[in-house]
Amino acid sequence: MTDRYTKAVNSGFTQTLAKKLGLPRPAVLRRYRAGDSLTVGPVLVVSDGASKADADAIAQTLLGWDLDVRREPTDDVRWGAVVLVLTEATAPTDASEAVLATGSVLRRLAGNGRVVTVSRAPADGDSPALSATRHGVDGFLRSVAKELRGGATGNGVVLTDDVAVDDPSVLGTLRFFLGAKSAYVDGQLLRVGPTADGVPAADAPEPATDRPLTGQVAVVTGAARGIGAAIARTLHRDGATVVCVDVPAAGEALAATANAVGGTALQLDVTAEDAGERILAHARERHGRLDVVVHNAGITRDKLLANMKPGQWDAVIAVNLAAQLRINAALLEAGLEGLRIVSLASTSGIAGNKGQTNYAFSKAGVIGHTRATAGLLAARGGTANAVAPGFIETEMTSRIPFATREVARRIPSLAQGGQPVDVAEAIAFLASPAAAGVNGQVLRVCGQHLVGQ
Ligand code: NAD
Repeated sequence: MTDRYTKAVNSGFTQTLAKKLGLPRPAVLRRYRAGDSLTVGPVLVVSDGASKADADAIAQTLLGWDLDVRREPTDDVRWGAVVLVLTEATAPTDASEAVLATGSVLRRLAGNGRVVTVSRAPADGDSPALSATRHGVDGFLRSVAKELRGGATGNGVVLTDDVAVDDPSVLGTLRFFLGAKSAYVDGQLLRVGPTADGVPAADAPEPATDRPLTGQVAVVTGAARGIGAAIARTLHRDGATVVCVDVPAAGEALAATANAVGGTALQLDVTAEDAGERILAHARERHGRLDVVVHNAGITRDKLLANMKPGQWDAVIAVNLAAQLRINAALLEAGLEGLRIVSLASTSGIAGNKGQTNYAFSKAGVIGHTRATAGLLAARGGTANAVAPGFIETEMTSRIPFATREVARRIPSLAQGGQPVDVAEAIAFLASPAAAGVNGQVLRVCGQHLVGQ
């Protein structure tokens, strides 16, 4: 699954040669396997003075996850992760000691190690010093992530003011960032709020559970291949019954995915007027309920705008954006309790991309409707979030000309493309009870691609 270049620079004679020539050597990323430990070594938990109680609470939780937790930086350890807690820092200088303590162990951070900040989101009414401190953490995290080597990543959990550090969604997000499921998520800060009112107690997040979607029914569009097939497999692994949707022309591959995950196939063009009603009817009639919808079906029709034909523009908007809006309207109309919607955006929709005005419009539109839908779903205990992949190795990207593709692979901090499973893991996390407090957010799965925010 690893691309040929990454394989070559990590083995045998070609590894030695790459070292001698000083070629970039992207690391082999550690991905989730049941039974593996969460981190690759001991976890250092550091904080500023005022955040010590929050750091203590986090350290206790990590101990409960069977991790080797330390509170002092020492020279004798190959660290698996550093958790830097700055939740109560109010002035820029508050952060200095803990940040430098983090720096003091980075040379001994293991390959595939983690740096995770836990801080608070800037809010209206923050004093200038508080706002500076909170924004400062963002800049720090994005920069330290770029300095890490060997497949190590840096990400941040950003709490809103009304959420406690031991809130299940905070801990669930921390767990996602510490573990192998976030292998290709790098340089990202995810905002976590309190769990929406109306989430039934039975849905109380249980971050440590292996199959968090047990008993739930999930619909995945564009499931015949690529990222969609990986999403179906991952949601199934996590316990969900999966309805796999794709166009009739992809029927055979669709049936193969559905069979592999013990789910059902629904041949449907998502641009159909009644797509939302048909998805709902299928889920209810065949499986009795609907809990998760993943809008993954998507197409590209790349052209410079000067050469864009109406059909190329219209097709992309219809499949990537208008279909999601229409299906969401039908789902909202049905008034489902606790519905989780996760939609595929793209880094092109954040930073723009030459030749992709149509695609970028559609993907930025996905981010827009996700933010607006979040509040509507929260009223019934649901969430709407988007995942923005960077360069992922699929049939869609295999059509990109070789030189452009090779450059796209090496630009991210992790210096490689992601795998479909990396996107699927992020989606499975956002669909899980552990992410109940994550709503209206965009999580990039891009290996810290140097575009956009
Ligand atoms: P893919 O082309 O390999 O698969 C897309 C699937 O969607 C196919 O099975 C296709 O038949 C299905 N589909 C297309 N139109 C449909 C319709 N009208 N109704 C139902 N199904 C339809 O693409 P992929 O690379 O797996 O991408 C999946 C999603 O991720 C897309 O939304 C894409 O825009 C997004 N994405 C991909 C990348 C990447 O690097 N591959 C990056 C950013 C975002």
